[in-house]
Amino acid sequence: MKRLEGKIAIITGANSGIGKATAELFAREGADLVLAARRLDKLQEVEKYAKEQGVRAVSVPTDVSRSEDCRKLVEAAIQAFGRIDILVNNAGIDDKGMSITNCDHDLWNKVIATDQDSVYYMMKETLPYMEKNGSGSIVNISSIGATRSNAGISYTAAKMAVIGMTKNVAIQVAGTGIRCNAVCPGPTETPIFDPANAATFDQEFSELCARHFDRSLPRTQPEDQANAILFFASDESKAVNGETLVVDHGATI
Ligand code: NAP
Repeated sequence: MKRLEGKIAIITGANSGIGKATAELFAREGADLVLAARRLDKLQEVEKYAKEQGVRAVSVPTDVSRSEDCRKLVEAAIQAFGRIDILVNNAGIDDKGMSITNCDHDLWNKVIATDQDSVYYMMKETLPYMEKNGSGSIVNISSIGATRSNAGISYTAAKMAVIGMTKNVAIQVAGTGIRCNAVCPGPTETPIFDPANAATFDQEFSELCARHFDRSLPRTQPEDQANAILFFASDESKAVNGETLVVDHGATI
């Protein structure tokens, strides 16, 4: 028996990095997928892969920083499959490691809208359907930038808020059959580490932040994060609620 057989999962940020690895793993584990991100062509590549694994999948172009888009995404999921069993709030952007000194209001607002507000919008839209079914698993993607506060100011704020919202929702749903947990990835080999992107970071502040974790350990792979997300999504973690799981090779012990 596959671990997500018969489950319906929404995954945001499903066309790249951790979200893509999660979508592909979920497809292999039998879940039907609602794939969301802004770039439709990249989503459709993942949709094709999912269908080749024998599951159903739809791609929904979505800007998760817009509440209206999140509402439409959840509606599209219900229209396609009639229920939602799993929500993975993975879509996110980095903030170029900007210190408070170098983070302007535009960057702050963009990062908070994308990495924090989106999680509120998606949980608020999805929960009523999970409550109707009396079951569901929400997996929010935070970061070691939250547990250690060692990222840019806006990213740290947003990802800490994600942990706070995760625990707050977990209190509300405890004992109802619904669960809400978070994964905190450490440095993971995704496009965030493309040299062109890395060169745009606040080098001085990033260097200060990097002193607060063990850089000698390897980066994780997107599949390492996907495996942790699968654990929270599946019934194997049915007694786990309100938890955060750091996946970083122990870099922040
Ligand atoms: P990635 O490869 O750049 O993927 C980011 C995903 O988010 C893409 O699918 C992107 O698709 C989507 N996205 C970005 N803005 C969006 C928006 N406004 N609306 C909808 N989708 C949007 O990054 P990743 O490294 O896999 O990151 C995935 C998650 O893990 C993020 O929340 C990130 O903060 C977190 N994380 C990553 C690391 C790491 O080292 N990689 C460490 C800790 C936490 P479109 O551009 O097509 O919209």
